[in-house]
Amino acid sequence: MDEKIALLLEELTRALGDLEKTGIRAEFEKLIAFRVPPDVAKESILRKFGGKRKTLKVKDLSANIKNFELTGRILDLGEKPIRQQAGTQEKPSRLYTGVLADETGSVLFSSWRELPGSIGDVINIKNAYVRIWQNRIRLSIGEQSPVSKILDSSLPPMSELSASQKKKLTDIGTADFSVDTVACVLQLSYREVLTKGHQSRVISGVFADETGRLPFTAWIELVGIDIGSIIRIEGAQVRMFRGMPSVSILSGTKISSVGSEEAGKLAFTFESAAKDPVPIKIEEINSRDSVFDVSVAGNLVSIRPGSGIISRCPECSRVIQKGNCRVHGKVEGIWDMRIKAVLDDGTGSVSVMFPRELAEIIYGKTLEEAEQLMFSDVSKDAVYEDLRRFLTGRYLAVRGNSSRSEFGISFVAENAWVPEEDLAVRVVDLLRRLGQDEEDGQDKNSQVSGGGIELA
Ligand SMILES: [Zn+2]
Repeated sequence: MDEKIALLLEELTRALGDLEKTGIRAEFEKLIAFRVPPDVAKESILRKFGGKRKTLKVKDLSANIKNFELTGRILDLGEKPIRQQAGTQEKPSRLYTGVLADETGSVLFSSWRELPGSIGDVINIKNAYVRIWQNRIRLSIGEQSPVSKILDSSLPPMSELSASQKKKLTDIGTADFSVDTVACVLQLSYREVLTKGHQSRVISGVFADETGRLPFTAWIELVGIDIGSIIRIEGAQVRMFRGMPSVSILSGTKISSVGSEEAGKLAFTFESAAKDPVPIKIEEINSRDSVFDVSVAGNLVSIRPGSGIISRCPECSRVIQKGNCRVHGKVEGIWDMRIKAVLDDGTGSVSVMFPRELAEIIYGKTLEEAEQLMFSDVSKDAVYEDLRRFLTGRYLAVRGNSSRSEFGISFVAENAWVPEEDLAVRVVDLLRRLGQDEEDGQDKNSQVSGGGIELA
């Protein structure tokens, strides 16, 4: 382990320079102390402190990144005066906003500097950063971000870039300004919300194609569209919801049904898209900013501190310490149980959060039973220790959503089960290695069939 950390520190030094002087080493060690897996810690540090020569495309933009270089064509540009507050130091009084595009996508931007170009021009921005504004990713050009106009560029022309981009669901990122896609409706529900003083009906649901799934919200009526419909969506916007992209259908978005002839040529049908996701490699989860509704399977290699019984504020559900909520002060806490565990499948590891319903199932004890254990034991950590003993090393499949934050990737489980099929395969494999498969291989094979046991 220490050898691995030394290796990672070497890699970080190569990428970022002197780690001691910049405090990066201390930051890395803090993550390790919080039991963030070393690889994840390295990635997180790299993202946070970045290399000086980091050049990104629009599709690479996500929350919490800064100090990068990007080249794009200005698709739209406007300016607005910003009122200066009396008594403060002189601040830039104009904000320039618009849309910037490259061949991978288009993104909203805002700039505190007057840009050296106008609509149609290509600009290069150094030391840019990303801000989240109204749940959308915004490329930010600050006073310390040099911007230059590029005369000769290989970027596609205006006409090509300004059409919204046709994308598969897996390629839609939180930075996307406007996208076109063809997908089928997997889930659909209606709710009433109060916006600007009047009730309006919002439709939310899930889209799917052959590459994956994404949540969506429609602020307009979807006439004639239901679960199972295959539709073309043009000019949809992308919002960020719980760290992942969500397709937003607004009044400017065009929705049309895909005819049966055209639907027959697609790489998916409603039936294929509606199938439960098959487990993918954790390596793939770690290489992406977020994945909506996927499953992974692996061994629980460690149970992280903070797992077990926790107390929540009855007002805001925040985890409270010694009966004190950060926001509501002294409160009567409500007991809850959760498990945070590191799942490893050999290609990588990911931190998985199991909420109470799943924690009770994989632990095999209800919250009430765990409370009894907590009150009957002198050790404050009785439940945590019991969880560690019971769960460490177990093989488990989980289904849920993964998203990246500054602490790396986290996966929130919505379902968990023991993949019996995998277990049988592994038993057969083990027996083969022990040279015992010849006499009872037949029997073992017959046990391989059948799906996993659904636990929830
Ligand atoms: Zn509270």
